[in-house]
Parts: sequence; C-alpha cells; structure tokens
Amino acid sequence: MEVLDASAFIHDYTTDEPTATIPLVREELEDEAGYRFDALEGAGMRVHIPDAETIERVERAARDTGDDGKLSRTDVRLVGAAFELDATLVTDDYAMQNVAETLDVDVDVIARAGIDERRDWQFQCQGCGRTFDDQRDRCRVCGSDLERKRP
Ligand SMILES: [Zn+2]
Repeated sequence: MEVLDASAFIHDYTTDEPTATIPLVREELEDEAGYRFDALEGAGMRVHIPDAETIERVERAARDTGDDGKLSRTDVRLVGAAFELDATLVTDDYAMQNVAETLDVDVDVIARAGIDERRDWQFQCQGCGRTFDDQRDRCRVCGSDLERKRP
C-alpha cells in the first residue's frame, strides 16, 4: 500500500499499488488535483486518520531529527498514516522522508531522487561556532543562539 501526499495528486502520480491518504490532503487540493483525489477515493483509495498516539510518536521522531519546525499538521499525519498502515509513503518532501526513515517507514518519491540516508541536523552556535547534535535554544558553552545547519 502507498500513502500519497498532496504533491502526488498535483503531479498526477499513478501506481498499481493500493493507495491511502488522509482527509487533510483533500483540503490542500484544488481543481484537477482535487478531482483526482475524489476519483481515487471512488476507486477504493483508503482515507485514513492516524490515532493520537501515533501522531505523538511522529512528532517525537521529528523533534529528534530537528525536522519538527518543517512539518505541517498534514505532514505529521501522513507519516503517521504510513506508519500505521505499514505502507510506503510517497512524498518529495525531504523533512517527511527524513522522519519516515527514523520510524522505519519506506519512502518513495514522485519527482525527485530520494535521500540515501537519514540526515541528522546539527546546530551551530552563532557565538563560538561549536556544533551540537541535539536541539536546544542556546549554546551550552557560551549561551549564544544556535542555528540549524546540515552536517
Ligand atoms: Zn557557543
């Protein structure tokens, strides 16, 4: 089973696998993409609502990878749906891919090449330049602001 994000409908992604998505995706779609959602739903696409426990688990994973600020409510629930349905998440969003991989959710891409491995963000101090793996508001050495960067 494949869980589709909004861009799958926008880019007219097609698959032979059974499909699923979440109700919030429909709200992001307009015109043609919305009709494609309705057509797929009519053809048996599962519209799934992940439970609160799973959503919390995804949010925790996103905090661990430093992606929590980049995921919308919809994104978190899509990852959660793929997790619960043991499905492959179809998305081009790097933050979602990153979080999905920490939860052992398989990811497939629509347009772009996927990431090879999970990227853990690093946080660099704007004062002393030290980098830290864990997210916090201030440098534990000099107290300056931290900024997220790619390792
Ligand atoms: Zn510092």
